[in-house]
Amino acid sequence: MTPITLTPQETPTTPTKPATKPHVVAAVAEVTQKIKQDLRMGREHQQGRINWITSIAMGAFHVGAILAFLPIFWSFKNVGAFFVMYFFAINIGIGVAYHRLLTHRGYKVPKWIEYFVTACGCLALEGGPIFWVATHRVHHQYSDHEGDPHTPHDGTWWAHAGWILSGRALHSETALLGRYAPDLTRDRVHVWLSKYHYLPLVFTGLVQVALGASLAAPGHRVIGAVGMLLWGTFLRVTVGLHATWLVNSATHLWGKRRFETKDDSRNTWWVALLTGGEGWHNNHHAHPVSARHGLAWYEFDINYYFIWLLSKVGLAEKIQIAQYDKADPKPAGV
Ligand SMILES: [Zn+2]
Ligand SMILES: [Zn+2]
Repeated sequence: MTPITLTPQETPTTPTKPATKPHVVAAVAEVTQKIKQDLRMGREHQQGRINWITSIAMGAFHVGAILAFLPIFWSFKNVGAFFVMYFFAINIGIGVAYHRLLTHRGYKVPKWIEYFVTACGCLALEGGPIFWVATHRVHHQYSDHEGDPHTPHDGTWWAHAGWILSGRALHSETALLGRYAPDLTRDRVHVWLSKYHYLPLVFTGLVQVALGASLAAPGHRVIGAVGMLLWGTFLRVTVGLHATWLVNSATHLWGKRRFETKDDSRNTWWVALLTGGEGWHNNHHAHPVSARHGLAWYEFDINYYFIWLLSKVGLAEKIQIAQYDKADPKPAGV
């Protein structure tokens, strides 16, 4: 299997006679400028700017996550809301949809399924599909080199959350991001979901408020509503964010390497446990198109099992699965 080509292959060339070919000089300057723009996603080009709206939102969700642990909000119903919402947002939304389907196109599903699982991805509060996919494609292009939006080479905290709080990747440069996700920018539903990515979270939050209130005993309805919202949304979003961020930080730092990839990616079992299989990150960097990340029998991969289930009921096809020589494992294309 060969890795997909993720971005336009534009390489600046030096004209031999620039004075006689001004259009070549202009073209070279434009391409060089584009490449410099891409590289500015790396930390050294951030200029310490803080994304205030994102930082305040992240802070608020962390406060809500801590409040969820107040004894007054404890109930099995709220814990159930946490796990159900976590599965839809992180497993189906981020792993199955944003990552393995939209970014790498490791399998195909009918459009209505694609839109539904993408809406689930919006529940994770990790931005809309175009932003997420474009940023992740840039990560694969420059992994652990200059231009990687979140490499631990720029610091462990930077790779984990710093790039979200002060990184340029979030400065919604639609045109630049769109170059990395032209397949999505051509799709009106994905454009709409990218613009209004917070709506699924608001909608499910309101459902939790209504459900929490209706399931509570008379006289405890407010506690029931707030408790389910704190567990099903605030705590769940916060844990999900850190689980996803660990793929950017921990799995480029700690764990085993099966494949000698050009980056520092590793297979980290406890991140795989938290994310439903995304922690088999060295496998993934070696075979990015593979819809299956856990390549050994003991490398559990809940997200792949879900895709496999979809195929068994006729809702997924053309599933890409990495093939490699166990005695001499090599990355795709080597
Ligand atoms: Zn990576
Ligand atoms: Zn990937």
